[in-house]
Parts: sequence; structure tokens; C-alpha cells
Amino acid sequence: MPDVLFEQQNHNHQSCINQALKSAEKICQQKGLRLTPLRKRIFKLVWSNHKAVGAYDLLETLHLDDPKAKPVTVYRALDFLLKAGLVHKIESLNAFIGCLKPETAHHSILLICNHCHQTDEVEAPQIYERIFQLAVQNAFTPQNIIFELQGSCRNCQKKLSN
Ligand SMILES: [Zn+2]
Ligand SMILES: [Zn+2]
Ligand SMILES: [Zn+2]
Repeated sequence: MPDVLFEQQNHNHQSCINQALKSAEKICQQKGLRLTPLRKRIFKLVWSNHKAVGAYDLLETLHLDDPKAKPVTVYRALDFLLKAGLVHKIESLNAFIGCLKPETAHHSILLICNHCHQTDEVEAPQIYERIFQLAVQNAFTPQNIIFELQGSCRNCQKKLSN
């Protein structure tokens, strides 16, 4: 998958979804994790586009065909997907986004659009290396975190400049 999705306004998103599902199935099989139908359903919902999505939005969509679904159902599924490395949590928005490179270890930065919540993921290993160095120099044990950069995506820049 390309790094810069914003460039592809009319990309075939169904192929993004198919690719993501294929990766998810492979990873779960390798790690001995169970991608239950519900977890798969939530995963697909997270992947419905490249925008950050909150747990309650997911619940709302889930309610369309399962009115009894509870928040805890969604949270548990999201927790599973996070631990399996299939989605990233966007702390600043309290939302989620499908990981673009779940099959490989990576240190990414999330580029989050403040206007439309479109979120891209780019790898930045040097930045993480430097930050971890700084942490160690200060006798601090860093945990694996993900950097979030907020701003305007390509589309919204165009709209804003018009
Ligand atoms: Zn797509
Ligand atoms: Zn990722
Ligand atoms: Zn945007």
C-alpha cells in the first residue's frame, strides 16, 4: 500500500479493505489469535475509510444490524485489534485507524487531518531512534508509543485555499 493515500482521491478502497483483511487473517493465524466474526466486523468498520473513527461511531454503525450491541463489545474487539497490532489508537482524538503495515515491525507517525480526520501513517525510524536515545540518556524507559501529527491533509489544504 502506498504511503501517501491522500494522493489517491479515487483509489480503489475495496482493495485496501481486502488487503487489510488478508493481512489480519494471516497475522492472527501466525500469532494463534482468533479473529472471530465480531472482531472481523469491527475491523472492517474501522477500515470503512481512511478516517479516524471513535468507538461510539463504531457502535452506532453496529447497531444498524445488531441493536443489542453494547459499548463493551466494541471496546473488547478494539482492544483485541490493538494488541494484535492491526489498528492504532489515536490518543488525541480518542479514535482508531487501521494499521497500514501490520505485517512488519514499524515505527510510524500518524498524520491526522484536523478537518476531516483523514489519517495517514508514515514510517519514521530515525525519529524514534533519536527519541529513545534521549529517553535512555535521561534514565527513562520508553514504551512503544506512536507520534501524532495534527494538521491539514492535502484535500483540506485545497479546500481551505479556495
Ligand atoms: Zn483505501
Ligand atoms: Zn502501523
Ligand atoms: Zn482533511
